[in-house]
Amino acid sequence: MKAYIMTGDNLGAWLDTLARDFTLIAPVKEEENVILFKPVKGFAEINLNYTNSTVSPKGWIFPQTEEMFYFSTAGGQINLTDVQAPRPAIIFGLRPCDIKGILTLDPVFNGAYPDPYYQNRRENTILVGLCCTRVERHCFCTSMGGGPTDGRGADLLVTEIDGGYGLEALTSRGEELIHRYQGYFTPDQHSRVILAREELGQKLAGQFTRTVDTTGVKEFLDQNFELPYWDEIARRCLGCGICTYICPTCHCFDIFDFAPDGERGVRSRCWDSCMFSHFTRMAGGHNPRPTQKERVRNRFLHKLKYHRDRYDLDGCVGCGRCVTKCPVNIDIRQIIADLQEVAQHA
Ligand code: SF4
Ligand code: SF4
Repeated sequence: MKAYIMTGDNLGAWLDTLARDFTLIAPVKEEENVILFKPVKGFAEINLNYTNSTVSPKGWIFPQTEEMFYFSTAGGQINLTDVQAPRPAIIFGLRPCDIKGILTLDPVFNGAYPDPYYQNRRENTILVGLCCTRVERHCFCTSMGGGPTDGRGADLLVTEIDGGYGLEALTSRGEELIHRYQGYFTPDQHSRVILAREELGQKLAGQFTRTVDTTGVKEFLDQNFELPYWDEIARRCLGCGICTYICPTCHCFDIFDFAPDGERGVRSRCWDSCMFSHFTRMAGGHNPRPTQKERVRNRFLHKLKYHRDRYDLDGCVGCGRCVTKCPVNIDIRQIIADLQEVAQHA
């Protein structure tokens, strides 16, 4: 792993250049207290003064709505046309929890049945991580095995340092990016970047106001599917689905065809939510998750058990978005703590 240093002025000039050569996705202040990852034309549009974005940036790998192919049945013939492949992209400024979110999605879409749409975007997107500089009240990434300076999964990791920025190339793609734009960087001869990142990590570790212990929770859930506790949570849940839409690891989708003239159309997919009543409703009307209790239970079991069963990874990265955005204050940290306590006394 090699490290480099860049001045603040060079960061702006480099990002302006990247925006010309790639589709550059970066955090943008959409309105007061709303930061979204969006395509930008240059550094002037980017806002780096944020903790995490309002919606996770997963949508640039797994879009909220995505056209899959076009079809035509004109003249009794079925013709399919691929959609245009996306331009190579760079996502700049990903926080460590959101990079981990992408690592959590990878085995879902790149498993036994690789998803070509996800795979295509993933392979054509360079991930540039940005270490956090502060911890918010809702953050609990360290409880979920991550950390505010943990760059695992990024191609390049950027850390703010005195007088500029430090960059660590964590993959060959990251190294190639540095090499291609080498005029903007100087090699870090004295390990300044690593030392600064480690120091920052230690400082931020002391800023978490709430940590949770997941020990034994999965094993408890393995043995306890039916719990009166889920009735309690379900009574509060509105089924609005906000928690799933903003989550960096949720990945359910629906597929639909749109053919206004009945002959030519497009097949698309869009995010769906297990918190909606119709999510599991079958064509004949039967719904195996008939009440909000089953839906709420499914969401939390997916985060704390099912993803571990399938991929040996937690389904939550501790970004805290659902903690801040749930309109009725359903807090996954409290749910983990409650389950932990029950598990200890079981
Ligand atoms: S479940 Fe909540 S805290 Fe965990 S990754 Fe999803 S949005 Fe973030
Ligand atoms: S955001 Fe809260 S109220 Fe809405 S579906 Fe999620 S848990 Fe239920």
